[in-house]
Amino acid sequence: MHLTAELDIRTLLFLVTLVGLLMALTMAVFARRFPHYPGAGWVAAADACIALGAYLIAMRGEFPDWLTTLPASALTLLGLLLNYEGLRRLLQERNAWFWSPHWLLLLLLPGSWYYTYVDPSVHGRVVVFSGVGCLAALLTTYMVLVPQRAADAPNLRPVAWVFAGFALMLLLRVFHTQDPRQVDDFMYAGALNAAVLASYIVFLILKDVGLLQACVRQLIADVERQARTDPLTRLMNRRAVMEQGERAFHRAVSGQAPMAAIMVDLDHFKRVNDEHGHQTGDAVLQGVARILQGSVRPGDLCARFGGEEFLLVLPETALAEAEQLAERLRLKVEQSSPEHCGGIACTASFGVAALADETRLEELISRADQAMYEAKHAGRNRVEVSQVDMRSSSSAASGSAGAAAAQRLGAE
Ligand code: GH3
Ligand code: MG
Ligand code: MG
Repeated sequence: MHLTAELDIRTLLFLVTLVGLLMALTMAVFARRFPHYPGAGWVAAADACIALGAYLIAMRGEFPDWLTTLPASALTLLGLLLNYEGLRRLLQERNAWFWSPHWLLLLLLPGSWYYTYVDPSVHGRVVVFSGVGCLAALLTTYMVLVPQRAADAPNLRPVAWVFAGFALMLLLRVFHTQDPRQVDDFMYAGALNAAVLASYIVFLILKDVGLLQACVRQLIADVERQARTDPLTRLMNRRAVMEQGERAFHRAVSGQAPMAAIMVDLDHFKRVNDEHGHQTGDAVLQGVARILQGSVRPGDLCARFGGEEFLLVLPETALAEAEQLAERLRLKVEQSSPEHCGGIACTASFGVAALADETRLEELISRADQAMYEAKHAGRNRVEVSQVDMRSSSSAASGSAGAAAAQRLGAE
């Protein structure tokens, strides 16, 4: 407390102004560079208001009193309210305007006016401002921590705790500011007020650094997600299925659990493009992707492996099960493609392989791929299964013509 007692309040106010302006500039540049985050612009305006509020108070004695009292507090509170608004926008929080703490200005203005013109008191104004500011910071904390936020919003929880800490400082100031007539001049308002002003600097820096960090983290996560997602079908792409599949493969090998892969290739897809155009071709791909994704279990991986090729990686799945699934999918594509795939009837060929003595996922995929080519050669719109001769570790596709397999499944 001795140290803060020696800190000069006017100097601290100038520091709050300087840091506020720097943070406002930082947030404004960020908002301009990433228009995806409009809330950052509101936070920049918030910091500018807090900086200006501190500047007006710092100029007490130089500027007329009417300017350095009520408008200064109102600007500082406006800064807190704009912070609330900025965070709300960053979180895409759609709570009603009624719950926003804008009404706190209506509490501050009469209180501040009373202690400026009716019963002038520095401590009275300090208590009114701190109480109202504390409420604004607490409501911001509540808004960030409690209501549900959009799944793709940045994680602002650490920022919420900065607001909670700031609210605590203001609350301490309310309870420790007694005797409303103790000082005539805010510049001599004591150690606690100096400490609170120092906490403004910490608050401005921590909340904005936390906010930028959350946004950058979310941007990186977005880029990573995009790098693993096929933009046309929204399925995972080849890179993602190889990464996730590799992990599933090692779990299966080490746990001696079954695992299977199914390679799917659309039949005569080039014709679809040539006869109906690329856009229709794209709609067919999206339709087939929906059929595949909608038919697998939560732990299964369903990916767009190449142009009109899809790969399913199925942990905990034995060969017979995978073959049945492939046959169900073959029928689904055949039967539902006209209604789901841009009015175009289309079929697909399937190659199924189950884990045998492979040491790498690529080997399993390669066997599923070979089986798929067997299905093509055997007339398309079929399921072929890769059988492994364990003694020689060589594999051969054994045919199960679509119709025959369908019959078999029908009998089940
Ligand atoms: P097959 O039955 O032997 O598989 O014949 P196919 O015509 O399906 O095979 P081919 O490999 O000759 O042609 C694949 C076609 O897939 C060619 C390519 O234009 C098309 N294709 C690949 N990616 C896309 C895409 O993203 N959109 C569209 N519309 N077409 C694509
Ligand atoms: Mg192909
Ligand atoms: Mg094809």
